[in-house]
Amino acid sequence: KKQNVPDDMPDWSAYRGVMIFVEQRAGHAKSVSWQLLGEGRKLADKLEVDLIALVIGHDVDNLAKDAIAYGADRVYIADAPELKDYRTRPYSRVALQVIREVKPEIVLFGATATGRDLAGAIATHLPTGLTADCTILDVEPHPSRLLLASRPAFSEKMLATILCKQYRPQMATARAGVFEAAPYDPTRQGEIHSVPSLMAEEEIDAQVLQFIEATERFDLEEAEIIVAGGRGLGGPDSFQLLQELADALGGVVGASRAAVDAGWIGHAHQVGQTGYTVRPKLYLAVGISGAVQHLVGMQNSDCILAINRDPDAPIFKVANFAIVGDLFKIVPALTEAIKAK
Ligand code: FAD
Repeated sequence: KKQNVPDDMPDWSAYRGVMIFVEQRAGHAKSVSWQLLGEGRKLADKLEVDLIALVIGHDVDNLAKDAIAYGADRVYIADAPELKDYRTRPYSRVALQVIREVKPEIVLFGATATGRDLAGAIATHLPTGLTADCTILDVEPHPSRLLLASRPAFSEKMLATILCKQYRPQMATARAGVFEAAPYDPTRQGEIHSVPSLMAEEEIDAQVLQFIEATERFDLEEAEIIVAGGRGLGGPDSFQLLQELADALGGVVGASRAAVDAGWIGHAHQVGQTGYTVRPKLYLAVGISGAVQHLVGMQNSDCILAINRDPDAPIFKVANFAIVGDLFKIVPALTEAIKAK
């Protein structure tokens, strides 16, 4: 819908640029960061401004270069031992300082545990508004330069577009797997600016003693292959069949809400509106009908293979490959065939 510039809108001309927070853990960037740079590039081009990346961590020089290769024009990097692990205060102090100096008109974060925490801390300090969990981002180029941050509302029954008219920067967190990263181009050129860490270790009250890796072998949002099961599996034991297929393919196990609600598998495996949004190279939907709430979480996968005994199952409408038949026959045969290769 057409947005008009409100009469009482302040002069924000000092604020220019789209900034993306590059989230990392142990020097490895979360893929949502590159996805946001891809989307941020489009917004920056529309506004005719720089795309700016903010990298915070330790031994993260390579991420500054990667950010440029993924589309950033400028990178601000704070690299210090006390910034190795995410902690709210030292990270938000650095981010606030950079935002106050650079004055981007838009700042975006992944809607991850870290992104949500950091964005919230920054928004309250600036202060500005924050739209959480967006799935569509756009801008009104001229004259309002408003960020049109849209997110599902009322159980996905409507899409709410939220505007931040009275404050700058405009901030949002966005879901992983929704946007596409630009192709990695190591020949791209950009500026890298070092910024200081603003807190000494002694001043930081929270300490990270140890990271305990999850005992379950999966990270849905980062997985390249997902073998997901639904109500068609009939019970928790059948998920072992999927695990074997996932192991043979080097993938992880996902699930529909029906399987999660039945208690057959944990919520961390759930794909869809109230679960994770995923974008793997290969998504196998096994015994999943393809309800719209499931599709929104996986329809951007590069390749979808659906196995269902109902030839009219809606999942086949989004599938690249369809196998119509009994999953209890097809899945073990597929696993054997892949293992035999
Ligand atoms: P069903 O729809 O029951 O489908 C089972 C399928 O298995 C059928 O197509 C059947 O033909 C097939 N099948 C059965 N036996 C076999 C066999 N032996 N071999 C092969 N195929 C077989 N759902 C999600 O997944 N994720 C969400 O995040 C989510 N969020 C929701 C949020 C809201 C607000 C609401 C209202 C719903 C949400 N749902 C979500 C639920 C969604 O609407 C569906 O109910 C759910 O996705 C159905 O799961 P399913 O496909 O596993 O089960």
